[in-house]
Amino acid sequence: RVSIFWFRRDLRLEDNHGLSQALKDGAEVLPIFIFDTDILNKLPDSYDRRVDYIHQALTKLQQELQVFGADLKVYVGEPLDIFKQLHSDYQLQTVFCNRDYEPDAVKRDEFIKTWADGAGIGFRSFKDQVIFEKSDVLKKDGSPYTVFTPYSRVWKAKLEAKNLFPFEIDATGFKKLPFEELPALESMGFQKTDLTFVKPILKETSIRDYDRFRDFPALDATTRLGVALRFGTVSIRKCVSLADACNETWLNELIWREFFMQILFHFPDSQTQCFKPAYEGIAWRNNEKEFEAWSQGNTGYALVDAGMRELNATGFMHNRVRMVVASFLTKHLLIDWRWGEAYFAEKLLDYDCSANVGNWQWAAGCGCDAAPYFRIFNPEEQLRKFDKDLMYVKRWNPDFESKAMTRIVEHAFARDRALYTYKLGLGK
Ligand code: FAD
Repeated sequence: RVSIFWFRRDLRLEDNHGLSQALKDGAEVLPIFIFDTDILNKLPDSYDRRVDYIHQALTKLQQELQVFGADLKVYVGEPLDIFKQLHSDYQLQTVFCNRDYEPDAVKRDEFIKTWADGAGIGFRSFKDQVIFEKSDVLKKDGSPYTVFTPYSRVWKAKLEAKNLFPFEIDATGFKKLPFEELPALESMGFQKTDLTFVKPILKETSIRDYDRFRDFPALDATTRLGVALRFGTVSIRKCVSLADACNETWLNELIWREFFMQILFHFPDSQTQCFKPAYEGIAWRNNEKEFEAWSQGNTGYALVDAGMRELNATGFMHNRVRMVVASFLTKHLLIDWRWGEAYFAEKLLDYDCSANVGNWQWAAGCGCDAAPYFRIFNPEEQLRKFDKDLMYVKRWNPDFESKAMTRIVEHAFARDRALYTYKLGLGK
């Protein structure tokens, strides 16, 4: 009999909890990945850097496995059909994987586990993509934290050296298999993109000055590890060990990531509903032409337009600019945060449901945030503070001066309108 290790958001051999447990269990381990057609079919564009990123990361993983005489089996289809076929081919003993906390992934895993239970196959999942998951960090009364600062305080107090020990793998446990090519991207209906996958390297130098420079979009002062954390090509234990030793500001960012993951886990409805229900009363203007202008970087506001153009061209946008464009869409244009969230979900290389929803709700004022809704970013003031020499703006939006004449809305007017509309919607 054979056990399966099912790769999902953990595309690496090093320090992989579930894989390490599978290899200790006794049965030969067959590593697999499934391009889930349920997910692929929902992607609107055949040019998708995320699919390409996964494909290239799998190619690398496969090369690493071949060193041990093993292989990575990659399937395209619905997970249940694939597991049924695998069971008939190999008489499965146990399916091992690492836990994923997104609502759709939780449902998928419950579904596969129910089938496995019925077929007499074990299903074992492990904590790998976070330091603290689900209910590891709770208030004294057992309820989840919904405000970041107290959550992060308890998170830090709970952190011990043992939480960061790497999980070793014993490669002798892999099933020996002849090499088989990965299905080509084109055969799945996707194109090769401009992306080149490089295995992430963690260096002290990349975070040493993070707290000083991270807010300036023209500088390359953030780590760009978002996509690696999303697909697990880097280990969170390694990141946190480095952050803990070198830069507390960066550690806080990694805790934000876990904060939003546990929020979405405990409050799955917040994927589509305002975390604070009263905000459902806001009468969004939802003007489609204005949404189009925002998404294409044609608002006439230099920083907003530069950010959207960076996103459209590369799949990345600097965090400071993400905050500005999200505030602009929801407050200046009064467009529902869910429209912006969906646009980012389509475009961001580091798209992560919990971080995207959490940050969009934060920007719109309806999320897990102690800050009041009437804090509205002034896009020009943000530009003066964080890109005063216009280096970032000139890079992404070189003709910004001519467009300033035709601004989509005047700041002072938009600010008053947002305050009025929010107040009315909240019944205040
Ligand atoms: P660094 O600044 O080097 O930070 C390291 C890591 O910490 C990031 O890669 C990320 O995993 C985590 N992190 C940092 N800030 C946050 C945060 N505010 N919330 C949650 N995790 C954080 N981040 C995503 O990973 N996926 C998203 O879909 C996403 N959508 C966002 C939408 C909006 C409107 C905003 C304002 C922010 C969003 N972020 C998202 C958070 C943040 O902008 C990105 O994580 C960051 O810009 C990625 O760049 P980096 O990898 O260089 O991060």
